[in-house]
Amino acid sequence: VSTLVGVDLGGTNIRAAVATGVFTHTAPAHAATPGTGGPDAVIEAIARCVDEAVEGQAIDGLAIGIPGPLDPRRGIVYAAPQLHGWDGFDAASALRERLGCDVVIHNDANLAGYAEWVAGAGRGTNDFVFITASTGVGGALILESELYVGKSGTAGEIGHMPLSPEYPACSEGHQGCLEGTASGTAIAHAARRAVAAGETTSLSGLASAVIDGRAVQDAARAGDEVALRIFTAAARNLGRAVGGLINLFSPEAVAIGGGLINAGDLLFGPLRAAVGEMAFAVPAEQCRIVEAELGTDAGLVGAVAWVVKSFGVPNVADTR
Ligand SMILES: [Zn+2]
Repeated sequence: VSTLVGVDLGGTNIRAAVATGVFTHTAPAHAATPGTGGPDAVIEAIARCVDEAVEGQAIDGLAIGIPGPLDPRRGIVYAAPQLHGWDGFDAASALRERLGCDVVIHNDANLAGYAEWVAGAGRGTNDFVFITASTGVGGALILESELYVGKSGTAGEIGHMPLSPEYPACSEGHQGCLEGTASGTAIAHAARRAVAAGETTSLSGLASAVIDGRAVQDAARAGDEVALRIFTAAARNLGRAVGGLINLFSPEAVAIGGGLINAGDLLFGPLRAAVGEMAFAVPAEQCRIVEAELGTDAGLVGAVAWVVKSFGVPNVADTR
């Protein structure tokens, strides 16, 4: 019987759980992600969280989702803006040394997309696109039933596709990429600009720091026209990007996840309407556009599914 561990590493929290099936897991152990002390402190916190999860069993393999572009084949993190000192860090070797087991690393959004494919909105498809829209916009591509990462290992950065050079820059400095207009951050920026320009909106009663994507969403739902215009524009841009992805990959399903989907029809109405601005009719007719199903569990479920895929499933009858 193998003890296989999945870990979801975020900028503030760590979760670790033991695989009990192809994508099922034990109740996760939790820890805070150290904000200081660099990679060593984070590796130590992960190791303690994993120790708690395995309850004394020897570990046969571990997969971890990390928030940043990385090379899953070499185990190297290229950059991780939420983790201090992780640029160029050999995370797989550090964890392997500390825990004494085989370790694979992967980008967190890619693992969330993999989870949706194995256990959520993409179940049963061969070609599947996952988009997560919250503070930023991330994604994953499952092509011919494989998680596609490309030459560098970083493919699937759907948030950084170009839309229009007239749009604002994202946090990475790309002028007019999808994340620069359709993320919660971008929606909040647009609302602050509207307030600063003196537009008539309920948001002008809020302190600038309080205006976030959620506040714009709430104001739009309450009928605020400026908030509705901003939110609708973001949803339309997301829909146009989905249309482009349909042209590029002709997937069977595109699942949208992340905090923005709490807006429901406010997001999906204009999003679906805009897909046809870009997509060819035939691939669009054969593609479902759906809400992601796993919510904030997707990262951990993806790490569990990935450790099982990577190291086998001797203690599991239900193989994919
Ligand atoms: Zn960008």
